Amino acid sequence: KPVIVLFRHDLRLADNRALSAATTSGRPVLPVFILDEESRGTRPLGGARRWWLHKSLERLAEKLAELGGPLTLRKGKMVEVVKALVDESGADTLLWNRRYDPASMAADKALKQWARESNLAAESFDGHLLHEPSLVTTGNGGPYKVYTPFWRALASSDEPRPPLGAPRALNGFRGPIESMKLAAFELLPSQPDWSGGLRAAWMPGEEGAQARLRSFFADTLAGYGENRDLPGTVTTSRLSPHLAHGEITPYQIWDALKQEASSAPGGDIEKFRKEIGWREFCHHLLFHNPDLATKNYNSAFDAFPWRPDKARLAAWQRGRTGYPIVDAGMRELWQTGWMHNRVRMVVASFLTKHLLQDWRQGEVWFWDTLVDADPASNPANWQWVAGSGADAAPYFRIFNPVLQGEKFDPDGAYVRRFVPELAKLPDRFIHKPWQAPERALSKAGVKLGETYPVPAVDHGRARERALAAHKEMKGDA
Ligand code: FAD
Repeated sequence: KPVIVLFRHDLRLADNRALSAATTSGRPVLPVFILDEESRGTRPLGGARRWWLHKSLERLAEKLAELGGPLTLRKGKMVEVVKALVDESGADTLLWNRRYDPASMAADKALKQWARESNLAAESFDGHLLHEPSLVTTGNGGPYKVYTPFWRALASSDEPRPPLGAPRALNGFRGPIESMKLAAFELLPSQPDWSGGLRAAWMPGEEGAQARLRSFFADTLAGYGENRDLPGTVTTSRLSPHLAHGEITPYQIWDALKQEASSAPGGDIEKFRKEIGWREFCHHLLFHNPDLATKNYNSAFDAFPWRPDKARLAAWQRGRTGYPIVDAGMRELWQTGWMHNRVRMVVASFLTKHLLQDWRQGEVWFWDTLVDADPASNPANWQWVAGSGADAAPYFRIFNPVLQGEKFDPDGAYVRRFVPELAKLPDRFIHKPWQAPERALSKAGVKLGETYPVPAVDHGRARERALAAHKEMKGDA
């Protein structure tokens, strides 16, 4: 009898424990991807991730077909579709790699329950995370609320298992199972097609992930600790969308870092490992706070006096706030589906503190536009910046977007790339065009208020307003 392997966000052949278990069983294998937008609580994927999913499924299907086990595509509620596939194929075993967002966990639990009642074998495996979020606990058995002790606990636990290789061949199931066409998933944008910048920036799929890892090791890892905050050139791995779609696992990264340990400085490797640790921490937070994307982690923020303002939100979304580093970030996001981490912090702080827009508005926009939009990392980081999150920085630490730009993009290379209308401004005004003398502006072809906006708010006043709002929330206004 055949074994069904469910692919979800584990779109790879190597280090895929569910697939390996199926191939070593010696039984016919039926690889399946179900586009499930119906299971209760499922958050529909945003546009950028839908684009990526299409491209990644294309690659995965090619690879599986080459191995001899073509991918079957279906759409619908996970449990219902699997029931139908079991009926059609006569399969008696279901294998999958675990997911950790609350709706997916509930869907997988229901699937396991149904399998048990129906006398089917069902087994799930690790791969997406190095540590099961439910098993990492403090000395008192509770969840961690602060990153540093969480990381210390991870770092002192057992070494992650070694990654598995990819199966060399698949004994694909030969029965008459119909697959939907990928195009019928309607994942790609139609009119207008905004995906040109994404196509230019990314190579979705397992091979793209491995290529990215290699180039990171060759060109960027040495110096990562020092350079990772600079958005002007490639200073980080850009593995996040590959990790989000499971085209590479943290086990593979860990193992590759071990191999690399002799050639890259230890401090850089350690810093990079700690970032992967943040990803684990965000999942830990989500596991213990299933409403992380909609509810303040710190409930004191329920009383925060947000000032909803559609025009301000739209200016931020479109990269037209008048602060060049903020606008460059928002345009990088729109064009490429990704934004550098330092700039994510700056734009998130600007939206929530300078513009006093609710962090959930920003979270939703990122969810739709990021190719790495992640149910744990996105809300956890938004809440962290807004001040309502776990281990959040003190509220009064409000980023000054001019100083952030001058510090991390000193020659303005990043701003010039994404805000080309400012490209000809001299370095000293690139992050504050409103301070440039008229002569410098006209020489650079900049007309404030026409070719580029005047600042949406004054930094000093916005800072005072944010601090007053925070005081009001605490009841000491
Ligand atoms: P690298 O510096 O190369 O780091 C390696 C890996 O570590 C990343 O791929 C990522 O998996 C993990 N990582 C690094 N920083 C963080 C962090 N702060 N939190 C969690 N994991 C981290 N990351 C997402 O993957 N998805 C999101 O939806 C997301 N939303 C964010 C929203 C805001 C407001 C902010 C401030 C950050 C967000 N991040 C998110 C975290 C971080 O910005 C990205 O993971 C990082 O920029 C990805 O680029 P990279 O792969 O080159 O990172």
